Amino acid sequence: MFIWGSRAKTHTEGEGQFYCPECEEYRQYEYKKAKQYFTVYFIRTFPTEDLGEYVECTTCNSTFDPKVLEYDPEKEQEKIRSFYFYATLNIMVFIALADGKVDDGEVEEISNIFEKITTIKLERAEIMESIEELNKNNRSIKELAAAVSPYLNDEGKETVLRGAIAISKADGVVHDDELKMLHGLADDLSLPKTYANGIFAEEEIEGK
Ligand SMILES: [Zn+2]
Repeated sequence: MFIWGSRAKTHTEGEGQFYCPECEEYRQYEYKKAKQYFTVYFIRTFPTEDLGEYVECTTCNSTFDPKVLEYDPEKEQEKIRSFYFYATLNIMVFIALADGKVDDGEVEEISNIFEKITTIKLERAEIMESIEELNKNNRSIKELAAAVSPYLNDEGKETVLRGAIAISKADGVVHDDELKMLHGLADDLSLPKTYANGIFAEEEIEGK
């Protein structure tokens, strides 16, 4: 009698470090491919079909879709952070630009305020680049605020708003149109009204 059948066998095709969603830690993984083999008398002969690929955590043995390798929470965090810095800087530059051009004093002021609220020291060139970009793209502060708002918690929004207030105050007086713009910014950031008014009161400029 001729006995034939099939059997599945997995091969490890690669390995490395990944963020295991089950362990919630960075772990070692093995990239595996399962293949169906044709067997004769229970001996493997040749592969008949691919059964699929998966990633296995060598610590908890959980298996995942290979897409799991694309997820890196640290990089994700980094991306959100840089996005937030970028938006904060752009909003500050936007306000500085509102009265025409940005002079050296204002560039210095932007640099100081940005460092105070983010602890990052900007190069003058980075600020100039942001100025150039805003001049070119003609984006509204409403668009900038709406773009960054979903990535920020209330504290982050407060930081952006305080940066904007500090820039508005830099020439000594907060003009009516600046005040209107700051309230608009608080709205566009979706900062709760009472929270925003608390900040305006603390900064000694009018609430609404
Ligand atoms: Zn794991």
